[in-house]
Amino acid sequence: MMSNFEAGCLFCRIIQGQVPSKKVYEDEHTYAFQDINPQAPTHVLIVPKRHIRGLKEARPEDAVDVGYCHIVAAKLARQREIEGGYRTVLNVGPGAGQSVFHLHVHLLGGRQLGWPPG
Ligand code: 5GP
Ligand code: ZN
Repeated sequence: MMSNFEAGCLFCRIIQGQVPSKKVYEDEHTYAFQDINPQAPTHVLIVPKRHIRGLKEARPEDAVDVGYCHIVAAKLARQREIEGGYRTVLNVGPGAGQSVFHLHVHLLGGRQLGWPPG
């Protein structure tokens, strides 16, 4: 696995185990853990192990990492039996609430989800 951890990045530190997290899934390319401030009964963050700052900064060669996070989200939703309705969310930029600049997909489910999101 090609790593490119960035010093000072919270999620790079979580992936490396330097900051504790409640892991729910891990494979060669992704790491998934419980959000510290859950907004739904299921609120998992799925991150590529390679540091990508966000969707804005993602390049064509990052497509597999970005897409694969969603495939992992679908797998976790299936396992958790929330397939009646869940949401994958990528907040892009501070105006949309992005607060950690290591790309992450939110998996939210287990309750009725409103539309449009706030
Ligand atoms: P964003 O707002 O960037 O889309 O999402 C960042 C998410 O990371 C937030 O939902 C926030 O609760 C979560 N978060 C921030 N710091 C930590 C942490 O140290 N551990 C965990 N597990 N989640 C965190
Ligand atoms: Zn990072």
